[in-house]
Amino acid sequence: MNAVQVLQLAREVGLDDAALVSAQRLDAEAAFMESWVANGLHGNMSYLERNRELRYDPRELVPGAKTIVVGVLTYDHSGHDYHRAVKSKLYELEAKIRELDATVEVADTQHVFCDSAPFLERAWAVKAGLGFIGKNHQFIHPTLGSYVHLGELVLNTHFEPFEPLELLKQPAGRLQPSRCADCTKCLAACPGQALGQAEWDARRCVAYVTHRCEICQQVCPYNETIQ
Ligand code: SF4
Ligand code: SF4
Repeated sequence: MNAVQVLQLAREVGLDDAALVSAQRLDAEAAFMESWVANGLHGNMSYLERNRELRYDPRELVPGAKTIVVGVLTYDHSGHDYHRAVKSKLYELEAKIRELDATVEVADTQHVFCDSAPFLERAWAVKAGLGFIGKNHQFIHPTLGSYVHLGELVLNTHFEPFEPLELLKQPAGRLQPSRCADCTKCLAACPGQALGQAEWDARRCVAYVTHRCEICQQVCPYNETIQ
């Protein structure tokens, strides 16, 4: 089985987008996280201080990991229990892959994730070419916006070709580091002035304290078509 077939199956199971990326240590992201946590910008999210190496290298989490299939599901398609919705699509994808190609290997340990493990999901989504991190520090898919859930299926098999592939709704423009350009809407709208610096300051973010703010997503032009 090749990467294109895997992504075709991702479409069949109902993911809104998906991409493959090779399992590797996230060196740049690890350096960034270390400095962010060392500077105390994570506030009291003390869980970020634990399991650090597991977070940076999925091969530490899933023995033999070679490929990460990152799946994207919009809020519309995921419903209330989005963990279950995303995971069930990824398990279905795994079953379809192995039905067509029994040589595709998976670990005996947990290898499907959605917001549930020390996994740098947004970093993987960007590395896979699915979108970018906006000035609001959210993952933004160029056509689906930021109201999306991410999930990962880790496989112990390598697929060719391995360049991030254009699939589903994704137009040209994958792998652009940022597509905010001159927009500063979220910076101006943030009530806590949490945005604007290179490093997001969790201590200033209302959502982090109350879970009741998503202004920086509401004002984002990438979400206009879906609000
Ligand atoms: S969620 Fe609200 S407080 Fe937090 S960064 Fe966005 S706009 Fe600012
Ligand atoms: S509101 Fe503008 S600057 Fe902020 S994330 Fe969206 S596009 Fe980027």
